[in-house]
Amino acid sequence: MLLLAASHPLDDENLGNLELFSASLALALHNAMTHDQVQKLAAIDPLTGIYNRRFGLTRLHEEFIRSIKQNSAIGLLMMDIDRFKQVNDTYGHTVGDRILQSLASTARKQLREGDLIVRLGGDEFMVVLLGANKKDTLEVAESIRRAIEEKQIKYSDQVIKVTVSVGGASFPECDANSEEDLIEAADRSLYVVKESGRNRALV
Ligand code: GH3
Ligand code: MG
Repeated sequence: MLLLAASHPLDDENLGNLELFSASLALALHNAMTHDQVQKLAAIDPLTGIYNRRFGLTRLHEEFIRSIKQNSAIGLLMMDIDRFKQVNDTYGHTVGDRILQSLASTARKQLREGDLIVRLGGDEFMVVLLGANKKDTLEVAESIRRAIEEKQIKYSDQVIKVTVSVGGASFPECDANSEEDLIEAADRSLYVVKESGRNRALV
């Protein structure tokens, strides 16, 4: 609320100016709010409501730089749904979409405030754990994996379950010069999990 006071009664000219002033103020406020909403939408994956790839990778870069400067740890997880194509083929794409949504929210619940969860694309997710060393990173990876394994997704009279494979790495235990090195290290662990049977967390 904006209150304008005058020591004398307002004449027609004053009132006219006031109307012009309030119209342009309303426009400026509206633009500021729209800008804020557009910024938020540009960062969010529309299906799951978590951060999208572009925003997630930018934030990871910022957090990696911060952890170097402040000499603090940072953990990274790469997560991919096991045999998701088969789930889509069995239940259909719409159910597949619901599973993606449910999985994102289940994983998110295992995180602390400030940690980031990102949909990189398709059935691939990335989690950034601030201040997490290797042990912490493995603990979170395992808690996400277990929570998803235990989650029951109801579809008509059936219950669908999916599992995920999780690969992780943490800095500075892992020798990384950039966030790309950390991503590569986590991807290598994910690859090992996929090759050795899936539904496991490896950091
Ligand atoms: P793997 O265990 O090796 O990961 O097997 P996979 O079948 O999950 O293989 P991959 O990760 O390569 O395939 C991802 C599949 O995810 C392909 C596609 O059917 C499905 N997918 C990708 N994006 C979406 C989406 O937005 N919605 C739905 N429903 N499915 C998607
Ligand atoms: Mg997959």
